[in-house]
This record gives sequence, C-alpha cells and structure tokens, in this order.
Amino acid sequence: MPPRINKEKCDGCKAEHEPLCEQVCPGDLMTLNAQTSKAYCRFTRDCWDCMSCVKICPQGAIETRLPYQLGYYPAKLIPLMGTNKITWTSIDINGNVERFVVQVRNDE
Ligand code: SF4
Ligand code: SF4
Repeated sequence: MPPRINKEKCDGCKAEHEPLCEQVCPGDLMTLNAQTSKAYCRFTRDCWDCMSCVKICPQGAIETRLPYQLGYYPAKLIPLMGTNKITWTSIDINGNVERFVVQVRNDE
C-alpha cells in the first residue's frame, strides 16, 4: 500500500530543496508537488512499504495502511521515532490499539 499524505499536516519540509521523505525513500518515489509544495508518491505501484518516509516525517503527515493480507482498511501502523527506539501503534480493523517498542540503537 503506498503512503498516504495528510495535506493538512505536510508543510513541504518548510520548502527545503529536498524534503526528508524524498531523501530517505530508497526508490526515489517521494517528491513535492510543484504547485502545492505538498509531498506525494509519484509511482505508487513501486512502493514496497519500507515505511522510511513514514518514520522520518517530522509532521507525522505520512500514513501507511496495512495491506489486506495483514489487516483490512482502516487497520494501520503508526511509528513514533525516539532517540534509540521506535514506538509502534497498531490499530486493527475494530479500532483496538496496541503499542510496542522496538529498540533500534544500542549506545551502551
Ligand atoms: S517529510 Fe513530511 S512534512 Fe516533509 S515533505 Fe515529506 S510528508 Fe511533507
Ligand atoms: S514506504 Fe518506502 S518505498 Fe514507499 S514511498 Fe515511503 S520510503 Fe518510498
């Protein structure tokens, strides 16, 4: 499922030449609309749900819907980046919420 951009939340990375979601996308799929300065995925069929853009967006403007094999709409996963961990919020199709924390760096 390609990322969905909340146009209310996206600020175009404050008109940076290359917004963060574009910088991190391994497929070079994210870019800004020249007229609106809002991000979009230009080749949605090429997105492989790595969620790098979702995790990096400072505005929380990008959302990934889970593919149907994992959960029907409106099931979704929302990452919240910390210094050395990611807190994932999982919302299933019935609205049940679960959170789990994954340590991504070990600075010790
Ligand atoms: S990283 Fe977020 S705020 Fe920045 S351009 Fe992409 S969607 Fe918009
Ligand atoms: S989920 Fe990954 S591949 Fe898809 S647009 Fe975002 S960064 Fe690119």
